[in-house]
Amino acid sequence: MRPLARSLIRPYVCPSCRSGRLPVRRQFASDAQVTPEIYDVVCVGGGPAGLGLLAALRASPATSKLKVALIETQDLQKARAWNLDSQHFSNRVSSLTPSSVSFLQKIGAWDHVDQDRAQQYQEMQVWDGETGSRISFDWSMETSPFEDLRTVATMTENSNLVRALLSRISASGDENISIFSNTTVSSIENGADLPDGPDLSAWPILSLSPTGTAPSQGPSRIAARLLVGADGINSPVRRFADISTDGWDYNRNGVVATLSLAEQDPVPFPLGTKTAYQRFLPSLGGPVALLPLPNNHATLVWSTTAENAAYLKSLSPKSFIAMVNAAFRLGMPDLKYMMAMERPTSSDVDDQHESELSWRLQHTPPSSPQPPLVTGVQEGSVAAFPLRFRHASTYVSPRVALVGDAAHVIHPLAGQGLNLGMGDVASLARTLDYAVTHGMDVGDILTLERYAAERYTTNAKIGGACDMLHKLYNVPGQGPIAWGRSLGLEVIERLPFVKGLLMRQAEG
Ligand SMILES: Cc1cc2nc3c(=O)[nH]c(=O)nc-3n(C[C@H](O)[C@H](O)[C@H](O)COP(=O)(O)OP(=O)(O)OC[C@H]3O[C@@H](n4cnc5c(N)ncnc54)[C@H](O)[C@@H]3O)c2cc1C
Repeated sequence: MRPLARSLIRPYVCPSCRSGRLPVRRQFASDAQVTPEIYDVVCVGGGPAGLGLLAALRASPATSKLKVALIETQDLQKARAWNLDSQHFSNRVSSLTPSSVSFLQKIGAWDHVDQDRAQQYQEMQVWDGETGSRISFDWSMETSPFEDLRTVATMTENSNLVRALLSRISASGDENISIFSNTTVSSIENGADLPDGPDLSAWPILSLSPTGTAPSQGPSRIAARLLVGADGINSPVRRFADISTDGWDYNRNGVVATLSLAEQDPVPFPLGTKTAYQRFLPSLGGPVALLPLPNNHATLVWSTTAENAAYLKSLSPKSFIAMVNAAFRLGMPDLKYMMAMERPTSSDVDDQHESELSWRLQHTPPSSPQPPLVTGVQEGSVAAFPLRFRHASTYVSPRVALVGDAAHVIHPLAGQGLNLGMGDVASLARTLDYAVTHGMDVGDILTLERYAAERYTTNAKIGGACDMLHKLYNVPGQGPIAWGRSLGLEVIERLPFVKGLLMRQAEG
């Protein structure tokens, strides 16, 4: 348990009354006895979740009066100035569900997202590389033939979103808000009961230090009425609050890359309809997904074993492209063979993967679905991230709340991690709004319980479903499990009502 000096629910007593009750002692001024600057909400972490929370608090008339601070290790000036030309895309892209987009619209952040760089898609084709069973996710069952298909999700670069949130926060003015970028939270502890100041013994006090050689921007110690951990998987806030996590490493990597695509043939109908593709490859450790970006680009997320990820990363662009095209077209034995081919050692033999693919394609029946051919890979965009599952045992403790990856990290196969984070932020902002308008203490555990009650089960269900899908689609071969999962897909495909239900769950 997080050590607390005294009862957490002790009523507030003003300093002058308390000084009358305290024995007079000779004091030497030390850091711990100097009153730190006090904030209503301190958010650690300036990723999408932390910035989303700040933007939401600033957007509401009630919570915009709160004195808030955000601390981020990295240089947020770089995030503000992030800029790429229209033919280049970051390799960290997330599929935002309609409910995340509508939350961002509500807090006025979506207008700041560069829409020319975001791509909606209206259909998702998913199939099993082992058994060929398939399912398509779209809203055709709820759309008349005369209407445009509804959006399934919007692909948005994380940097585009972060820049938009920073811009939205700036537009809200600089009253009551402090952003300490290039600043690391080096330690967090409970404060002291200051004889000539407030009783902060149950309040988190953060020690801040400049990152690297950056000059110090602000105070070295601050106190938080409510401390929010939006500080990612290794959350220092979670550690301070002594909140444990359950979870495991998948021993899988997510290989990402920015790709260029050939024009789609036949032209999709209705014109402009975009499709995302995901093929499960049980013998290679996970699914490969091709998600559309503007101007005939796409982002790749290939979940596979660490060895396969290292192999893919080591390939030349030509061989890498051949492997990605193979992953969406060849049968499992062919793919496994290509994944084990010797790496070309010099550029004159750099077409081995390409020629192997074209030879094998001649002997492979055309796959259905048929994603567009990958024709290029953006230089420097191939990267791999370890995949993990973590879930905090609780999201709240007195004067502490966790949001985003600090609270939960899930397998990316359904593209839900950041969406869950946006759901947390929307819920916590609502909770704080309620507290402020009802005169409650924003850090009180009774206030925060509303947030935990709203989010914990939802996140557990979605994280658990992704974990189950990962396990189900990691059983190679044509045995009973493969049969069962194919049957499941076929049944869902034939029952529009069940499919609609699943899509609404994923939509948030
Ligand atoms: C391969 C892959 C694909 C994915 N695809 C999708 C997708 O399609 N859709 C989706 O919804 N999600 C997706 N996700 C998940 C998504 O990327 C994450 O859930 C999301 O980025 C987490 O955001 P966050 O703000 O909670 O945490 P982070 O982005 O990790 O931000 C935490 C911040 O806290 C800061 N910080 C940490 N410690 C300190 C400290 N001591 N002091 C100050 N600052 C600190 C860090 O610098 C960082 O900026 C994917 C993940 C992976 C790996």
